[in-house]
Amino acid sequence: MALQRITILGATGSIGQSTLDVVARHPDRYEVFALTAHQRVDELAVLCKQYRPHYAVVMSSADAQKLQVLLTVAQLSTEVLWGDEALVAVASDASVDAVMAAIVGAAGLLPTLAAVNAGKRVLLANKEALVMSGALFMQAVNKSGATLLPIDSEHNAIFQCLPGSFRCGSATPDVERLLLTASGGPFRNWTHEAMQQATPEQAVKHPKWSMGRKISVDSATLMNKGLELIEACWLFGMTADRVQIVVHPESIIHSLVQYVDGSTMAQLGNPDMRTPIALGLAWPERIPAGVPPLDLFTTGGLHFESPDETRFPCLRLAREAMQTGGCAPAVLNAANEVAVAAFLDGQLRFTDIPVLIERTLTELPMMEPLELSTILAADRSAREQAIRLLPALGRGF
Ligand code: NAD
Ligand code: MG
Repeated sequence: MALQRITILGATGSIGQSTLDVVARHPDRYEVFALTAHQRVDELAVLCKQYRPHYAVVMSSADAQKLQVLLTVAQLSTEVLWGDEALVAVASDASVDAVMAAIVGAAGLLPTLAAVNAGKRVLLANKEALVMSGALFMQAVNKSGATLLPIDSEHNAIFQCLPGSFRCGSATPDVERLLLTASGGPFRNWTHEAMQQATPEQAVKHPKWSMGRKISVDSATLMNKGLELIEACWLFGMTADRVQIVVHPESIIHSLVQYVDGSTMAQLGNPDMRTPIALGLAWPERIPAGVPPLDLFTTGGLHFESPDETRFPCLRLAREAMQTGGCAPAVLNAANEVAVAAFLDGQLRFTDIPVLIERTLTELPMMEPLELSTILAADRSAREQAIRLLPALGRGF
């Protein structure tokens, strides 16, 4: 079998590292074409020594110089590139077979879309890219014939519960609804008053998953589930009212599909992102991922509860943004990115994250996203507006 050439966007992150872990288990199947990172140059250099990619991409010229020095000392021939255009180039290069889209946030939109437009196998972890550009993203998938594989564990679970012939973006007429499971995050049982005092350290300490800081805060506010609801609508051709959120603290059932005949299909496994990543890499085949098999005797009981949208308003905000349509999901996402960064920086209380997002959504005029430029403009205005609103709320620690 010919080696599959892979670009990993966001290689130094949690998903990037898990992807490399799976890739390293199958040197007979995969070869690393390019690795990209934002600022962690030392870590990227270590990965280059281990995986010997053709290209390594960072975001600034200064970081590129630093990386070049490290690679020269290590006598590596990896070529160092920098900037947004380099990200797009390594995501769409003719010799690349698959792209892992694992940059966090809106920064991943352009390279992910470039991979889609180039017709690659696209492993989508960067949910924010799809949330922002929804219809446009899915049109690009249909037009280019790209193979879109969901890596988010819930969407990967749903993909596995759908018929083998299903392709992301096609219709699912025999599905009644989707059940997206949520762990409930670290503040599942906290009162609103306790959450007002929540610190970044408490928020990023997820009970079940080990993830990057931004998605960990999103899991604590339940905005992660809100973004996933929007993601599910686009991937599986659903309306928001047909996606139910189910809090399941054990994180063993990763999501479920209910069919019109009364059947409910679920996918189970230990909470480890290497399972969905391995499926994305090898689909329609399956390969070992280094994840121990589920042992139901030690797992014990599984529990389910409905989410509390009064304590966790981000869920409602995301559903409403999807129902509003147009650029509302892009505005929601941008305001959330500003709010999460401000919270992590000690400038905003945890409970003011949804307040800032809701105000941004109410105060911005909504544009229809006919083209990419409209989405990027909505993203920019939402960030500016959220930053303007911040001082009125800002009460850090
Ligand atoms: P992370 O913070 O650990 O890693 C993010 C990666 O993106 C890093 O390599 C970083 O260098 C790069 N990056 C950050 N900002 C950048 C910028 N401005 N330009 C270029 N590169 C940039 O995040 P993560 O937890 O690995 O999550 C990555 C994506 O996958 C997110 O969209 C997240 O929602 C999604 N996801 C993650 C998990 C998980 O378990 N970690 C699960 C499901 C989905
Ligand atoms: Mg998820």
